[in-house]
Amino acid sequence: MEKFISVFDMFKIGVGPSSSHTLGPWLAALHCLNHIDDLNDLQKVEKIQIKLYGSLAKTGKGHGTDIAVVMGILGADPTTIKTDLISNLMDDVKKQQSISLKYKKQIPFNYDVDIVFLKDQSLPHHPNGLKFLITINGVEKVFTYFSIGGGFIEFEAEEATASDAGSKLNLEVPFDFYTTNELLHWCMKTGMNISDIVRENEKTNLEEAILNEKLDAIWNTMLSCIYKGCKTEGVLPGGLQVRRRAYDLNNQLIQHASYNNMDEWKNLLVKGGHDFSYILDCVSCFALAVNEENASFGRVVTAPTNGAAGVIPAVLLYAQLFCNKNKPSEIRQFIMTASAIGVLFKSGATISAAMGGCQAEIGVSSAMAAAALTELLGGNQKQCLMAAEIAMEHHLGLTCDPVGGLVQIPCIERNTMGAIKAITAAQLALQSKPDFAVVSLDKVIKTMWNTALDMNVKYKETADGGLAVQIPIALAEC
Ligand code: SF4
Repeated sequence: MEKFISVFDMFKIGVGPSSSHTLGPWLAALHCLNHIDDLNDLQKVEKIQIKLYGSLAKTGKGHGTDIAVVMGILGADPTTIKTDLISNLMDDVKKQQSISLKYKKQIPFNYDVDIVFLKDQSLPHHPNGLKFLITINGVEKVFTYFSIGGGFIEFEAEEATASDAGSKLNLEVPFDFYTTNELLHWCMKTGMNISDIVRENEKTNLEEAILNEKLDAIWNTMLSCIYKGCKTEGVLPGGLQVRRRAYDLNNQLIQHASYNNMDEWKNLLVKGGHDFSYILDCVSCFALAVNEENASFGRVVTAPTNGAAGVIPAVLLYAQLFCNKNKPSEIRQFIMTASAIGVLFKSGATISAAMGGCQAEIGVSSAMAAAALTELLGGNQKQCLMAAEIAMEHHLGLTCDPVGGLVQIPCIERNTMGAIKAITAAQLALQSKPDFAVVSLDKVIKTMWNTALDMNVKYKETADGGLAVQIPIALAEC
């Protein structure tokens, strides 16, 4: 039986800049240390070394994989850690040449030696592999993990096959679906919207009030991220000297008016009007803000990944400010519909750029946002699926080529494109009759997966092709 993928697997609160290279390795380190702690072996640990393979090795420096595994070993929770503490914690570990395992046991740790970037080696199961070599009472044990995209991780015990270590649920849900046909079957049979199907499934595991609370926490984190990104000026870390643009754009949009809180800020944006180019600028500003925060190790939500974290918040805030869809129930509806589309892509293809390039990140986020916006604007279930299909169709083949191995160029701007395409796809679907559509969402998911298989490895989050080699920056120096 396939494991149930919850809304809260698709949308995870964490830390930037990458769900597969930062959040996944962080969760892997936490899982590994918790596992040893559960066996009562933590106090017996003498040494720890981390080996990073494939894409994690090639772009891990720029994506903060080294920082993530250190934070995980310290036992820091990515959902709650104060993100402005991370750089000091990292400096302490480097200076003191020691590390505290979950703040329970201090051992020697040399950052330069004990985190190994094996750029020429890959593990067979997935390009994002990492191993924790842990010496316990003189015996070295190896714990292998794979970060498979969107913060999902798999754990491979010695001699065993990989199993899902991140998502935990083997739930029997009323409306199990992994393909578009299965989802549509439940929608047609029950007459429920996609978001209703998701809600009923989630209620198998969560009381409704808690479900709503958790959905609200997802949106509040996304909104705070937009707000913070709009209020923060400066240059992004990493050495590329990329200037933050959301700050200036936001100031232009609100005509440099002052505001004291989020509500005042949102009112100023709405007062700016409904002119096409103004709304376009707003959507771009929201997406830029999220991804500039993401690039600065800020708090973001995987949607479905960190690199693509700006698309869904930008489209959802657009729906609230410019389409009057601002009731809490509508915000929750949007998140649940988006999640269902993410599940279809995760099940039928991939949400990992190391497997499928940027079509798996920005393409999937755009499809998720398109379907969710369509439902919110009154589209039927088939129109929602059509919107997702249109959004992905025009991201097929999109490569991942981050300059300097950083999640900045082209990633930040690419989120603005994903958001705008999602809105266009929703509008097109709302004006269409899906029964006459030639391409189904399942077909486009299959095409995306086949394209991923055909794609040269240099376009899969390795920074070995595309823009990354036109603007060569020494990865290690960034
Ligand atoms: S190019 Fe796309 S897939 Fe690659 S890191 Fe940037 S946002 Fe992610």
